[in-house]
Amino acid sequence: MDTTTALLPALPTTLPDNAPPAFHLLSKPTGAICNLDCAYCFFLAKEMLYPGSRFRMAAEQLENYLRQLIESHRTPEITIAWQGGEPTLMGLEFFRRSIEYARKYVRPGQTIQHTIQTNGTLIDDEWAAFFKEHHFLVGLSIDGSREMHDVYRQDKGGAPTFDKVMRGLSFLKKHGVEWNALVTLNHANVDHPVEVYRFLRDECGATFIQFIPIVERLHENGVPFGAAVTDRSVTAPQYGQFLIAVFEEWVRHDIASVYVQMFDVALANWYGEPSGLCVFSKTCGTALALEHNGDLYSCDHFVEPAYRLGNINQTHMIELVASDQQLKFGRDKFDTLPQYCLDCDVRFACHGGCPKDRFIATPDGEPGLNYLCAGYKAFFHHIDQPMQLMVRLLRQNRAPSELMRLYAGQDQKWQDLLAKTGRNDLCPCGSGQKFKNCHGRERATPRST
Ligand code: SF4
Ligand code: SF4
Repeated sequence: MDTTTALLPALPTTLPDNAPPAFHLLSKPTGAICNLDCAYCFFLAKEMLYPGSRFRMAAEQLENYLRQLIESHRTPEITIAWQGGEPTLMGLEFFRRSIEYARKYVRPGQTIQHTIQTNGTLIDDEWAAFFKEHHFLVGLSIDGSREMHDVYRQDKGGAPTFDKVMRGLSFLKKHGVEWNALVTLNHANVDHPVEVYRFLRDECGATFIQFIPIVERLHENGVPFGAAVTDRSVTAPQYGQFLIAVFEEWVRHDIASVYVQMFDVALANWYGEPSGLCVFSKTCGTALALEHNGDLYSCDHFVEPAYRLGNINQTHMIELVASDQQLKFGRDKFDTLPQYCLDCDVRFACHGGCPKDRFIATPDGEPGLNYLCAGYKAFFHHIDQPMQLMVRLLRQNRAPSELMRLYAGQDQKWQDLLAKTGRNDLCPCGSGQKFKNCHGRERATPRST
């Protein structure tokens, strides 16, 4: 029997007018179930949405999902993205089947990119060989060195996980699997930007890095209140300073050799191209989340009853993606911006950030400002000049990495200037302070003998 006859619903004969040609969908085959118990994980609590569930995507559900995802796309590239919870808990057989189903439904001229976000603790030789064979892009969660990583990323028994993650990474590297570092910024690592970055670049060999700030609101009776956040969260100034410090390291050494998502997205916005990341785009709504049972939600950060669009076993995915509810969700990102953002000189780069973080008031009391605003403003102002220079280079068909030479020259000139400045002269940085009390402080410190 052809199993497809049992798979419902079918693709509508006419696609909805507003159907996007492509969209991102994070699917969660184990729902919120994970083998770790990271203190800041916002998703573990989602288990309560499905009481009594086994939290495993069934084979028929898997086929239904992949068929609909592929049918819904009118672009040559389709991304199949797995996330959790911890998706590797499904076992390799599940993912082997996903490859078979994708092959069954892909149309001529279409290509599939497989991605998976994982904590890495279950990755072994077999997993890594599988990822390599099917060209998976693996997003690996790692928060920096052992001391930083193990503060919040622990297993169900409270044991540290750093060694297991590094072991998983060693298998990925052994098999030459393409991987991204997914780094949550939190109270334990946000004040050590260069250390975090150098650890990822030099110790782990990461060439793709994504920073994700932890912003965890305090809840009362399950409902967030006010602007209070947990101690684990970053503050806006900390986040801004982190990005600035990493940028200063990257712009001197690593343009074109290390891809830092935030910098790449910023360059696209400065260049006037779509940024490719919903958080820094004018509107959103094309980054959805699919639960293990076929429930489709507006976004991974809004897996809540009010944002459930429907179930793909009852309504075809493309109709849910193009539904009025989802289109409004996407438009609201712009339509609900406070005046403070509308007047902001870096709005072209920021677009008010993610709506999930818009819970503080503007200086004149209007609600709906992003908690991270001060950090965004500081960072985007700081990178304005180098971004403009990179755009100029790109428009001249030159490589943005040429900027590294300019920085090297400036750094040398600065060092020469410092060397010539007397202890009691005014500091050349323009602070108005004596050199010995400012940038000359280190030189003024008597050496111990
Ligand atoms: S709510 Fe935030 S994470 Fe979700 S799609 Fe919009 S910008 Fe992206
Ligand atoms: S930097 Fe602040 S004011 Fe400007 S757009 Fe972003 S959130 Fe709004």
